[in-house]
Amino acid sequence: MPIATTNPATGQVLKTYEAMSDEQIDAAIERADLAFRQLRDTTIAQRARWLTAAADLLDAERDETARLMTTEMGKTYAAAKAEVTKCATACRFYAGNAPRMLADEPADAAAVKAKRAYVRYQPIGPVLAVMPWNFPLWQVMRFAAPALMAGNTGLLKHASNVPQTALYLEDLFRRAGFPEGAFTTLLVGSDAVDRILSDPRVRAATLTGSEPAGRSIAQIAGREIKKTVLELGGSDPFVVMPSADLDAAAEVATTARCQNNGQSCIAAKRFIVHTDVFDAFAEKFAARMAALRVGDPMDDGTDVGPLASERGRDEVHAQVADAVDQGATVLCGGEKPAGDGWYYPPTVVTDLRPEMRMWAEEVFGPVAGLYRVGSYDEAIAVANGTSFGLGSNAWTNDPAEQERFAVDLDAGNVFINGMTTSYPELPFGGVKNSGYGRELSAAGMREFCNTKTVWIGEGETGAGAGAHSE
Ligand code: NAP
Repeated sequence: MPIATTNPATGQVLKTYEAMSDEQIDAAIERADLAFRQLRDTTIAQRARWLTAAADLLDAERDETARLMTTEMGKTYAAAKAEVTKCATACRFYAGNAPRMLADEPADAAAVKAKRAYVRYQPIGPVLAVMPWNFPLWQVMRFAAPALMAGNTGLLKHASNVPQTALYLEDLFRRAGFPEGAFTTLLVGSDAVDRILSDPRVRAATLTGSEPAGRSIAQIAGREIKKTVLELGGSDPFVVMPSADLDAAAEVATTARCQNNGQSCIAAKRFIVHTDVFDAFAEKFAARMAALRVGDPMDDGTDVGPLASERGRDEVHAQVADAVDQGATVLCGGEKPAGDGWYYPPTVVTDLRPEMRMWAEEVFGPVAGLYRVGSYDEAIAVANGTSFGLGSNAWTNDPAEQERFAVDLDAGNVFINGMTTSYPELPFGGVKNSGYGRELSAAGMREFCNTKTVWIGEGETGAGAGAHSE
């Protein structure tokens, strides 16, 4: 893929970049390694001051940064502004909470026959972050804020269609005061990832992206014995049961499917509705989806902008066409518009069957699959019936059913009577082919820490030797 900014609203190529040479990549890794030696010796308080300065810059530069993101990947300007603000909030969250998250944890010294024993969280070194374009600032920030706070350094290989946002991030951390090399953007294609991750100075990798990219990075990391966190795709279920508030469910379903022009890993994608309320929900949902305004992402009145690439739009349309060819019913949308820009209308498709692509694949655009089920058990079977397990939603006002969904949905999160979203306070990640590891909260920060056992004894003969020595 060329490294270039192409405006999805017009299809115009605005800026192109040369990929960095092997020598430039090598020099950047060297700087990241040197910066790590410096950063790990700074205090948490110092790093918190730098991260807070980054938050202040994000707030001050919100509008220009949002415009840049909209130009590079087509999200609405309103959504882009909210994304910048969310990044600033995450920086402040980690600046404020790192002292607690990174504090030594004392152990029961007597139980481990020590004078003193504790667990220390130490940074590990340069971490490679391979990131997607759909939340071009937020996806990076939810790795970078905790990683830098912990004292690691970051090497960013961003998606090839958001190079200017990638360069902004490097500049942001430099201006906030972090040492040169603490956070570096590598303008490289995905073919450079093997070389970077194989370098002994690079200690770990995090990838947010598709399942094939996850497999590829996990293979390299496995060969090199390096830690990875994988945040991959999802096809989140959104279950509606008879006791649900149908108007609220239909309203939230519309936002949950079409946020970010339908290109979110945690967008609800499969709407699984109990037969008792299926027709009523389908009508309310399709009416709301059809009423969304599709258009220029810079306009205040736009709900849904273009998809990020022509290839992405073609793929979404091919998935819809495949279902229609095999007998599915389109309740709204489903036609690829003519004209400039990679727009696609909010679409609802029902009468889906397992042999259709939409049944098992992630649809990365504003297209909802609507499924009719006859019972709680059938709802769970359909909800859990894909290879993904990222987020999940259930709408029910029956307290016992709420508890059952919380247990039975096989996913990294369950949101009851609400929409899946990410918060710095809560862990984020998936199960099954949606990946492994967690971002955000203390769990996210500790993914790239060495959880080190420290045992201090009196130095007497036999101290520390238990029944087992391993
Ligand atoms: P993608 O094609 O996998 O790209 C993501 C990143 O991986 C890009 O930087 C890309 O570089 C790189 N990449 C692609 N193939 C690679 C390979 N074989 N080896 C190494 N790097 C590789 O995904 P996308 O289309 O940008 O993003 C959409 C996908 O991301 C969806 O599946 C979505 O669900 C998922 N996603 C998951 C989460 C989550 O938190 N779980 C969040 C957001 C998105 P190039 O751009 O240079 O190809």
